[in-house]
Amino acid sequence: MFTDMVHVSGFYRRKRQNHVTNCYAKHQCPNCPSIFVWKCTLRRHLRNECGREPRFKCPYCDYRGKWKANITRHIKRVHKNCYNYVVVTN
Ligand SMILES: [Zn+2]
Ligand SMILES: [Zn+2]
Repeated sequence: MFTDMVHVSGFYRRKRQNHVTNCYAKHQCPNCPSIFVWKCTLRRHLRNECGREPRFKCPYCDYRGKWKANITRHIKRVHKNCYNYVVVTN
């Protein structure tokens, strides 16, 4: 009885993984050529990125990015020893 239950839960877990694999890279943005692995990423893209100018800007040069993390990474890499902050434009 116990063994059967373990088998069943293992089966369901495997089935769910297959489902995720089948959805791999299938979410294409309806407005641009971007393709997303996860539906939630596509939703985020539509809400924050698609058709918009990048909002975040490096304070030391013209580098722009759609995500704050892109700028902080850029500053760490390019403007070493500079104070790491992000300019938000709109
Ligand atoms: Zn798009
Ligand atoms: Zn910069």
